[in-house]
Amino acid sequence: MAFEGLSSRLQNVFGKLRGKGKVSEDDVNEAMREVRLALLEADVNFKVVKDFIAKVKERCVGLELTKSFTPGMVVIDIVNKELTELMGGTHTKLAKANKPPTVILMAGLQGAGKTTSSAKLAKMLQKDKHKPLLVAGDIYRPAAIKQLQVLGEQIGVPVFTLGDQTSPVEIARAGLQQAKDNGNDYVIIDTAGRLHIDEALMDELRQIHEITKPDEVLLVVDAMTGQEAVNVAQSFHSQLELTGVILTKLDGDTRGGAALSVKAVTGCPIKFAATGEKIEPLEPFHPERMASRILG
Ligand code: GDP
Repeated sequence: MAFEGLSSRLQNVFGKLRGKGKVSEDDVNEAMREVRLALLEADVNFKVVKDFIAKVKERCVGLELTKSFTPGMVVIDIVNKELTELMGGTHTKLAKANKPPTVILMAGLQGAGKTTSSAKLAKMLQKDKHKPLLVAGDIYRPAAIKQLQVLGEQIGVPVFTLGDQTSPVEIARAGLQQAKDNGNDYVIIDTAGRLHIDEALMDELRQIHEITKPDEVLLVVDAMTGQEAVNVAQSFHSQLELTGVILTKLDGDTRGGAALSVKAVTGCPIKFAATGEKIEPLEPFHPERMASRILG
């Protein structure tokens, strides 16, 4: 299970606080030392941890902890609120174009879960009574087009393709036109990933961006890669105004660092969390629920 280590460590720290009738400044400092270590071990970005601890301590200072009825709970509540803030505060909704179709550009490294997440996103939209169109823009990875077609068929969502001999920019343009012609209110463009970020990939994404003017540019990142996911998000964001992140593989035993650092480092909200290889509707990411889950 994701966050298991972090969760049990934090619960341990707070178990000690919870039982105390009085909480002194030393108790808070000791708890924060342990929280700091737990976050670092969960692979949360160093600077993010530092700021986080400073904020929690600042909120604890001046609280008359000894007079509070349940002082330990007050501290835990502060940590809960700051954790929620760290992950973006509230859920950030998917953007909607004033005039349909809403265009969603999917980006990310190979293997992050772009194609799978595109299908999950389509399924979520379909569940909400929308008519999405999937566009197969990954012409480089062998079988990527076929994979999207199979998933599309499985969930009953049309997939637009021009094969692998047409440029992805042209495919995106034609796919958007097809959506307009067929009355699809959402277009999800699956793009090529690479093993590493390279100029050619970014160039291609920028051109697709230019031509389709997406309402959402969603970066798909693999939560299992921890800080690397955050680095990837930062690089993409600096070159291609991202509007949100889809964090995949939260079903795995990720330590959670990516989920806790991406928003703080890039300013980009996590909009969806993905779990499992099966095509289920994508789950909106709710920071407050995630914080409560971590704190147990
Ligand atoms: P792409 O190269 O970014 O398009 O990645 P794919 O969508 O092909 O996914 C790569 C692998 O990760 C596939 O085996 C997927 O089944 C798997 N995968 C994708 N998303 C998830 C997820 O949320 N959880 C798990 N466990 N596996 C996932």
